[in-house]
Amino acid sequence: MPIRLNEREYMSADQSLVSREDLIEVACAASENAIAHHSNFHVGAALEDDDGKVHFGCNIESDSFGLTICAERVALTKALSEGVRKFTRIAIIGYSKGEDKFAAADTALGPCGACRQFLWEHCGDIEVIGGTDEGKIGKVWMLSELLPDAFTSLHNEMGN
Ligand SMILES: [Zn+2]
Repeated sequence: MPIRLNEREYMSADQSLVSREDLIEVACAASENAIAHHSNFHVGAALEDDDGKVHFGCNIESDSFGLTICAERVALTKALSEGVRKFTRIAIIGYSKGEDKFAAADTALGPCGACRQFLWEHCGDIEVIGGTDEGKIGKVWMLSELLPDAFTSLHNEMGN
């Protein structure tokens, strides 16, 4: 059963109150709603904007496979559609429910290549917090470390 999550619960007037651990926790909660009937790999993402509000998403798989959407892009497109344009950090966690098909304990989950590009275009060089499959902080990167020499359109407003 999906759980109902309220974004207002994850809003802070003072962005310093939202810790990396808090973001991982929100990502874990979001992963509960993952639709991962093909891969069994449940992913959650928590994206903080410059007002300290946390937007979240989970992966949503499609029977066509190619239309599957990652948790990071769900969180980001939700926020963009609400008019949010500036972001500071994103936390990502993922784990395989049941069998150990994808599980790698104590290994930080980083965004896939498509998400790295999408995040770069819309967020710029934000902090990326890679969670372990046990819901702990695994690694922290800047996005520019994960996507060096990124493709950027001349028309990109971010100017990155
Ligand atoms: Zn992705």
